[in-house]
Amino acid sequence: MNNNIINFGKKHRGKSFEWLIFTYPKYAEWIWDNRVYENERCFTPDASALFVELMKRASHLGGKCDRCGCNVTQRVLRWSRHSGHFMDASFICGYEECDWALQDDQEYSEPSMFAPPDFSIIDARKVVKQVKLKYIGRQKINEHEMVKFFHNDSNFSEFTPGFFDFNNPILNLNEIANRIML
Ligand SMILES: [Zn+2]
Repeated sequence: MNNNIINFGKKHRGKSFEWLIFTYPKYAEWIWDNRVYENERCFTPDASALFVELMKRASHLGGKCDRCGCNVTQRVLRWSRHSGHFMDASFICGYEECDWALQDDQEYSEPSMFAPPDFSIIDARKVVKQVKLKYIGRQKINEHEMVKFFHNDSNFSEFTPGFFDFNNPILNLNEIANRIML
């Protein structure tokens, strides 16, 4: 069994943790908040370590600001002034010179894939869709590309260096095969 595969519950069994964060971010947060990843009946020690690393990465996005190319330090959530509905999220440097005018319908926060707690499941998915747009692109992506996103250290500001290296026993065999093909 690969370390990144959900092997508990009914709904998402067989899917990867990476897929879960991209698809049902609130469920990944529920696992985190309730420390399910520490339950040995659900997570092997390696799977638990991997889940913790993925959550750390997902909560600390990095990369470059779309506007100026400086490091991303902020997330901007935007609501429609007209309807009041949540619209989108951008990931920016946060420097004043970058010319992002502060507006009433925007909220600045840490650059995370996870939405504020009061967000609906649908709006929380909108936030991860924006992450996918910025860091991967407009095309449809499969589970393997979601895994690759998490393995790319340059997408994050906090991560354990070398976590996904070849000599790391946590890395699963599929991923080693995929890396050799790159
Ligand atoms: Zn900028």
